[in-house]
Amino acid sequence: MTFLDRTTDARRFRHWEGNVEADYIYTSGVAGERFFVALRDEGRILASRCTSCDLNYLPPRMFCEDCFAELTEYLDVPKTGQVAAVTVAYEDRTGAKLSHPQVWGFVIFKGIRGGLLHRLLVPPARARAGLAVRPKLRPREARTGTIADIDGFEPVRF
Ligand SMILES: [Zn+2]
Repeated sequence: MTFLDRTTDARRFRHWEGNVEADYIYTSGVAGERFFVALRDEGRILASRCTSCDLNYLPPRMFCEDCFAELTEYLDVPKTGQVAAVTVAYEDRTGAKLSHPQVWGFVIFKGIRGGLLHRLLVPPARARAGLAVRPKLRPREARTGTIADIDGFEPVRF
């Protein structure tokens, strides 16, 4: 079969099994480092800002995706975010059953383009889009400069 042929039978695909050495170290980049250092040291969640387009990006990025300007300004995202989408995991990535279902959500913030995919600290029955949430950070001394410095997002109780 050539690449021009089509099949819907996955058994017809040819493959080779083996290992390819692929050792890479990815950095978080300039904007990513600023994000993680601010999260670790100050407990802040930063977005980068394009003043030309009046756009704010989360996660922060170095260049505006609309006008390509270099972004050097940062701002804090609002204290409260909103769940845009949820999913509940009952198995881990190997297919093993989890002892407790994990709730994950995409959290967005008013005035910010993008958002954060993270754990939602709610029972599965309470997980829904539209829920107002705020980040729950790990204690300062336990933070390591990773996204896990946020324990998850918990509902805002009024
Ligand atoms: Zn721009």
